[in-house]
Amino acid sequence: MVILKSIETEPEQDIEYKNPHWREEIIQSLDLHKELFYDTIWAMSLTAFDKPREVQVLIDAKGHPFISVGSPGFVSFKGQDDELYEQNAKMQFPLKEWVHTHPFGKAFFSGTDLRTIAIYRNHMKEATVLGDAERMTIKFGVGYNGEDYQEFVQHAFITGEEEE
Ligand SMILES: [Zn+2]
Repeated sequence: MVILKSIETEPEQDIEYKNPHWREEIIQSLDLHKELFYDTIWAMSLTAFDKPREVQVLIDAKGHPFISVGSPGFVSFKGQDDELYEQNAKMQFPLKEWVHTHPFGKAFFSGTDLRTIAIYRNHMKEATVLGDAERMTIKFGVGYNGEDYQEFVQHAFITGEEEE
């Protein structure tokens, strides 16, 4: 089962890499604070390729990451099946999390995103869109009556050195 399989995207071999270790950087950030994990995905999305591109990270039920890159507007695993079957790790459902970026900067669930969610919502716990210093998350079925919980966060790293 592959998320967003129907969406057209460029095959990965046609993508130019400025940072060939982008996947490793994201995987390493999994052990860091959640905010740094998101920050790393966002940074790779903007800087690791020939142009800003959507990056998608699925964390499966066992905590294994599955990572793909798409066009500036779309991301899927089409043409990146190796990533899905790498390490003999077959994706286990329900997914802990589906994270993807909107390189244009606005964190919201697009029509395409909502259609994906409609298909997979019973097979994942949480979905997050990353934008520029903002993110939106839906946690599925966590309310008292099974309602979804949605939050929108705007964020900054504060150095403490800024002048008033
Ligand atoms: Zn999206």
